[in-house]
Amino acid sequence: MTATSEPFARAKSLEATLAARPLGLIIDGKSVPARSGKTFVTLNPATGKEICQVAEGSAADVDLAVQAARRALGNPAWRDMSAVDRSKLLNRLADLIERDAAELAVLECMDNGKPAALTQAVEIEGSIKTFRYFAGWPTKFGGETLPVSPRSGAKILNYTVREPVGVCGLIVPWNYPMSMAAWKVAPALAAGCTVILKPAEQTPLTALRLAELALEAGVPPGVFNVITGFGEAGAALVNHPGVDKVAFTGSTEVGKAIVRGSTGNLKKVSLELGGKSPQIVLPDADLNAAAAAVASGIFFNQGQTCTAGSRLYAHASIHDELLARIADHAARLTIGNGLDPAVNFGPLVSQEQWDRVSSYVEIGKAEGAEVVCGGGRPQGLGEGYFFEPTIMANAGRDMRIVREEIFGPVLSALSWSDADDLVAQANDSDFGLSAGIWTNDLRQAHRLAGAVKAGTVWINCFNLVDNATPFGGFKQSGWGREHGRQAMELYSEIKSIWVNLS
Ligand code: NDP
Repeated sequence: MTATSEPFARAKSLEATLAARPLGLIIDGKSVPARSGKTFVTLNPATGKEICQVAEGSAADVDLAVQAARRALGNPAWRDMSAVDRSKLLNRLADLIERDAAELAVLECMDNGKPAALTQAVEIEGSIKTFRYFAGWPTKFGGETLPVSPRSGAKILNYTVREPVGVCGLIVPWNYPMSMAAWKVAPALAAGCTVILKPAEQTPLTALRLAELALEAGVPPGVFNVITGFGEAGAALVNHPGVDKVAFTGSTEVGKAIVRGSTGNLKKVSLELGGKSPQIVLPDADLNAAAAAVASGIFFNQGQTCTAGSRLYAHASIHDELLARIADHAARLTIGNGLDPAVNFGPLVSQEQWDRVSSYVEIGKAEGAEVVCGGGRPQGLGEGYFFEPTIMANAGRDMRIVREEIFGPVLSALSWSDADDLVAQANDSDFGLSAGIWTNDLRQAHRLAGAVKAGTVWINCFNLVDNATPFGGFKQSGWGREHGRQAMELYSEIKSIWVNLS
């Protein structure tokens, strides 16, 4: 353990600054306390200790933020900003994230627990890429001229324009705090919207820094607001008549509550929800590559990933060999405080999440599955919410560990031999976010890719995500697609304009 290394030193100095006074909400360009005066604690999951106090926003604060966002929508400094200037502004924000990358990485690592290298790559570099990618869209996202054929024979010019959808409530989870915020804030600002970001109660810190950096980049006050707090603050945003759109990433259960809550003014809603992604391994697959990817597909970010490949369908002829190799990868993970550069497997985000994951292991055992490795708290790591990488074999299609999202490092392994039944089993799920297919048979690979019901299919790879390609789910994994042109469409309205030229 290198407790004297640079990330630990940086964390120590950040802790001292953060502990000095509670962090405020960001409303109308200012950091302000909650109207109730209440604060809550954010904890470091690697130690279980308090990092700092954060303002607990409620409906009254949400109302102020919505008013500020509505005013900002009509502010000429934002409304009339040229596409080139909006693009420059998003690039400037990316530059500032780059400037503060080391500080942001440590902040996220302290608040969420994920290993430093992963934080740097996914949260920080990923967010920089997202802002740069969407910085390219304002100058390219427009309407079309369309060849209409009116019955009267009149000469008509018809064209479409894109307008910002308006005030957006962006509600994000704790598993990828900064990158999930970036996935929503970047296209919303690129489309000319104003936003109120509600981070998860477990991980509020980088959202607040991101809004401060946006102000420094020149985003006018009120364009980017942050309400920290609990689910009630999220619900107040969803219910508020001044919000035009809600974009949410999180559990399917809360996603359904958001749909119900947004009916008052029929908000536009996009949802990126849970998953139970199958990893399908055929007998001819490259077993080394498959084992490495199945292991990282479930143990990456301690399994707290919506696309986690949590259901393994291994052909009977290679099942035992594959499981042994995956277990070998699990054994080689270094578990500990993510600030230690040698660590590549951190704690779960909270005690609540630890209890949830642990309870699923018990449910699996009671249902007849067998623990191949892991299953509990690793030895000698003190107070943090650490959970071992876990493989459960002999899982059956009706078991809860095969049907429900565990959201932890638990792989449920099943064996198959009938190809038609394999597709039926892979699709026998409420979810449809993603799937992995491992084979060297091109025909089988494409046949399966067509047959599985999932928003993303990876063939001989897993968990590749890019701003250029749509991301989202079939079935109860969500509504709409993030990234690419599809994200710009989520944050805009299209208007058709008819001009009589006769
Ligand atoms: P939630 O879905 O409860 O939380 C996600 C976000 O929604 C948070 O900001 C949360 O605020 C907010 N929220 C909670 N209730 C409401 C509401 N009624 N209206 C509006 N917003 C609300 O996830 P949890 O953190 O509770 O995690 C529970 C389970 O959800 C996990 O074990 C996992 O299975 C799944 N999950 C899936 C994710 C995914 O990427 N697919 C991400 C996170 C969780 P607050 O934090 O204050 O409660």
